[in-house]
Amino acid sequence: MNPDEPNPFQFCPRCGAPGGEFLKRKEFHCRVCGHRYFHNVAAAAGILTQDTQGRFLFLVRGMEPGRGLLGLPGGFVDPGEPLDEAIRREVREEIGAEIDTPVFLDGYPNRYAFAKIWYNTLDLYFTAKVLAPQEEWSVDPREVSSLAWKYPAEVRPADLAFPSLQALWSDWTAGRWKKGAQS
Ligand SMILES: [Zn+2]
Repeated sequence: MNPDEPNPFQFCPRCGAPGGEFLKRKEFHCRVCGHRYFHNVAAAAGILTQDTQGRFLFLVRGMEPGRGLLGLPGGFVDPGEPLDEAIRREVREEIGAEIDTPVFLDGYPNRYAFAKIWYNTLDLYFTAKVLAPQEEWSVDPREVSSLAWKYPAEVRPADLAFPSLQALWSDWTAGRWKKGAQS
């Protein structure tokens, strides 16, 4: 898939005419019927969590995109869903555990390819503590092939699944939140 050709439609979804313009990587415009569709930025959320030894939790992704690479617990915000509920639901779905109060770090843009469609996302990252011990987690084997606890020195940026996560990790390891959110 070529990210420079992100038009999600081969045909107008209203009148069926082939082609159509795709403007600013988000706006589909049909020249035949005038239909406009905005393929807007989607919100996603993830958490950075540490154990008492200072290792960070990564999930080895079991699904594309980024299968086999490192991600964080998290996922897309559902329509109408408050952000706090979204992050808690995603963590619950992926590792089967509850978290304490998430502390916001920052949001970074990402491009997420799924089923031959490019989604532009804004990935919102938090720190949070997982409340249950790992023996009590229930990891979703469809989404997560394994858990990987890593010291910062063990994390290679190229192993991180998404540019947004690479940007977060770069800021984190540069000490951007040294005096704040780190729990
Ligand atoms: Zn049309």
